[in-house]
Parts: sequence; structure tokens; C-alpha cells
Amino acid sequence: MENKQTKLLETIKSEAKYTASYTGRKKFNARVMNAMAEVIRENFVSSQYLHFAYDDGPLPIGYGQTISQPYIVALMTDLLDLTEESSVLEVGTGSGYQAAVLSRVAKHVYTVERIKELSESASKRLKELGYDNIETRYCNGYTGWQEKAPFDGIIVTAAASQIPPALIEQLKPGGRMLIPVGLPHMYQELILLTKDDEGATHTESLLGVAFVPLITDEEN
Ligand code: SAH
Repeated sequence: MENKQTKLLETIKSEAKYTASYTGRKKFNARVMNAMAEVIRENFVSSQYLHFAYDDGPLPIGYGQTISQPYIVALMTDLLDLTEESSVLEVGTGSGYQAAVLSRVAKHVYTVERIKELSESASKRLKELGYDNIETRYCNGYTGWQEKAPFDGIIVTAAASQIPPALIEQLKPGGRMLIPVGLPHMYQELILLTKDDEGATHTESLLGVAFVPLITDEEN
């Protein structure tokens, strides 16, 4: 296991170098890499996929959803520029893997998921594994989590056709949001949205990604 984990970290490092011209990050922060080393992906993958837990690719987690590719998890976490004091919102808990990684670099993680079974199993898993600075909620995250806002960072792990306005509102001045934007089930771009101290926003498209769709309302 240790060997596989070390190999996975090496893959992430070389991917970071390879994509640096798009992302602006040729090396991820040591705190982020430590989090990637600490969080064991095997614990978030169902038994039939254990064999692939250390591969740098997405895997099915049921209900038509996937656990993200480790390199993308590391990249998005790195781009959030979180500190020990940060409060971060994740939309799309899925397996809870990304939330676990975030919990190692931020103070509080709030994560929402619209599929009840996934929300409940992730919540249980995270508790059992001892991640005690993560709060999970079963709801549609298109409108964020107003009671816990504002956030230093927001990460959306499903693809939207546009950036949900509520999420922009719930971002602190000086905060950063990472969100894949584009056509569902097709090509999307990973967008970095920053909000300056005056509250003005700026977006930057970083690289092509493929995520499951962000559901905008419960009729979908
Ligand atoms: N971050 C996850 C990967 C999640 S896949 C992990 O580490 O495992 C994306 C998840 O977003 C899916 O579970 C999907 O159900 C969820 N999702 C899609 N639209 C959503 C919405 N509007 N609100 C909350 N969750 C949503």
C-alpha cells in the first residue's frame, strides 16, 4: 500500500509539472502534498475497485457518480490557497475523498451532496475515519450553504453550465473558487474565480477537465 501511495504522489508531481503552463503551478504546496499523502484513497473506494484505488483516474462510486482523479483533487486543493484558518465549502461530497483532503489543509470543511445515499455514506465514512472538522449536509448545493457563509474557498466537484450566483455571493472578499464550467457529459474548463477585497470578481480558465454534471434543481 505504502509503495502504491508513494507512486501515486510521484504521478501527481509529474502531472503538476506537465500542466504548469496551464495551471501556473508547477509544484503543489507541501501542505497539499502532505494531505494527499495522509488521506488514503482506498478508504473511499468500494471493494470492487480497490485494485484501482491508487491509479490516477476517476472511479465509479455508484448512482452514476465518480470519485475524482487524484491529480485533479490535488490541483484544485492547491489552487484554493487555503490556510490553517480557512473555511471552505465543497459542492458535491460524493465519496468524501476531496473533503478529507481539504480537511487537512483548512480549519473547517462544509460539504454538500444532493444524493441522499452518498451524503449519508460519506458522512459515516468521514466520522469513522476520524475527520472531525468536516460538516456534511444533504441538500442541493446550487444555492450553497448560506448559514455557514462566507467562505475563504469554494470548490465545486461537478460541472456547471454557468457559475451559480449564490456561490459567488457566499465567497469572502479575497476568496477563491474552483469550478468546472461547460457542457454536461462533455468538455469543460476548470475555472478559477477570485474575488478581490472590494468584492469584484475575476475569472480565469485554466485547463480542460471532465466532471459529472452539477444538477441545478431537483426536477433534473
Ligand atoms: N468530490 C467527490 C466527487 C464527487 S462527483 C469525491 O471526492 O468523491 C460529484 C458529486 O456532485 C456527485 O456525488 C453528485 O451527486 C454531486 N452533485 C451534483 N450536483 C449537485 C448539487 N447541485 N448539489 C450537491 N451535490 C451535487
